[in-house]
Amino acid sequence: MKSWDLYSLNDRNKFMLFICWTMAIVGSISAAIAVELRFAAAILTAGVLLFTIPTILVWRQILDRYIMYYIALIFSIQGYLLPPEFVVYILTFFYSALISLYFDYRPVLIIGLANVVYTIYFVSRYHETVFLAPDPLHHMVPLVSIHILVTSLLAAEAIIGARLRSNSMMMEKLSKTDPLTGLYNHKMFYEYLDSMLEELKDRQIEYLQVAVMDIDNFKQINDTYGHSTGDVIITRVAETISREKESEDFAARYGGEEFALIFTDKSLKDSLYICERIRTSLMRFRHPETGHEPVTVSIGLKAAKPGMSGSELFDQADALLYKAKRSGKNHTVSDE
Ligand code: GH3
Ligand code: MG
Ligand code: MG
Repeated sequence: MKSWDLYSLNDRNKFMLFICWTMAIVGSISAAIAVELRFAAAILTAGVLLFTIPTILVWRQILDRYIMYYIALIFSIQGYLLPPEFVVYILTFFYSALISLYFDYRPVLIIGLANVVYTIYFVSRYHETVFLAPDPLHHMVPLVSIHILVTSLLAAEAIIGARLRSNSMMMEKLSKTDPLTGLYNHKMFYEYLDSMLEELKDRQIEYLQVAVMDIDNFKQINDTYGHSTGDVIITRVAETISREKESEDFAARYGGEEFALIFTDKSLKDSLYICERIRTSLMRFRHPETGHEPVTVSIGLKAAKPGMSGSELFDQADALLYKAKRSGKNHTVSDE
C-alpha cells in the first residue's frame, strides 16, 4: 500500500475519516460497557449515517475541498446531542487537535469558535450537576480562555506549517526541474532512468527506450537572432515535446539545447512514432522570432537491454543521434 502523502488533501481526508470511523466504533464500544447497549447502537448508527457519504465522496475524490468543513460541522454539533458528561466536554479539545491535522487555519478557527460557544452552553446549563459549582463563571471563564489559547496556537501552527511546506515544495521542485523549460533536469533524468533500468532487469517492465534530441544548427540561431531568441526556441521545443509525448513518457532537458526522453513499456515502434510526432510537429512550426523559419531537431532512439547502465544506454542513443546529424539532420535514427 502506498504511504500517506501529507501534501495531498485527499489523503488527509481519508485519514480524518479513518479517525471518525474509529471514534464511532470506540465510542459505541465504550458506551456499551459504561452506559447501555441502546446508547451504543445509537452512536454506531449516527456514525454510519454521518460518515458513509463523505467516505464515498473522498474515495471517488469528489468535493475534497469541502470535507473539512463537513467534519468541523459534525464536531461542532455533536456535543449538544450527547449526554451532559464531563468526558463528553473533554472531547472538544480532542476535536481541535484533530481538525488541525488539515494544516489549514480556517477549520481550526471554526472549530475553536464552536468550542467557545459550546463551553458557554455546557457550563451555564450544567454547572451545578457536572461541575458541582454554584457560579457558572467559575469554570466558564478559564475554559473559554483555554479554548481561545488552544485555537490561537493551532491556527498559528497551521499558518507557519503552510509556509514551511510551500517553501519545501518549491525547493523540491527547483532541485528536480530546469528553470527555463520546466522539464526535469539532468540529475532527475539519470535517477528515473536508473530506477527504470532496475525494473527492466527485474522483468517488472518489458520495454525501455531512451531518445536523445538535439536542435539542429542552433549556434546559427544564437548568432543570427541572439541568445534570448535562442532561449525562446529552447522553451518552444520543450513545449512541443511536452505536448506531443504521452503522459507516462519522461522528458528532461539534458543540457543546453539537448533533450532526453524515457519511454517505458512501449514497443520501439510506438516510441519511434512519438519521436517522429515531436520532430514533424516542430518542423512544421513557423517561429515569428526567426523570421518564420522552422527549427528542426535530430533524434537518436535506443532500446535498453537488461543489465545496461544508464550512461551506457545514453551513449548508445547519443551515437544514433550523431548518425542522424551526419545523414543530413532533421531525422530520427533508431537501432532497428
Ligand atoms: P548541430 O546541428 O550539429 O547540433 O549544430 P549546433 O549549431 O546546434 O551545434 P551544437 O549542438 O554544438 O550547439 C550548441 C549551442 O547551443 C552552443 C551553445 O552556445 C548553445 N546553447 C547551449 N545552451 C544554451 C542556452 O541555454 N541558451 C541559448 N540561447 N543557447 C545555448
Ligand atoms: Mg548540442
Ligand atoms: Mg545542436
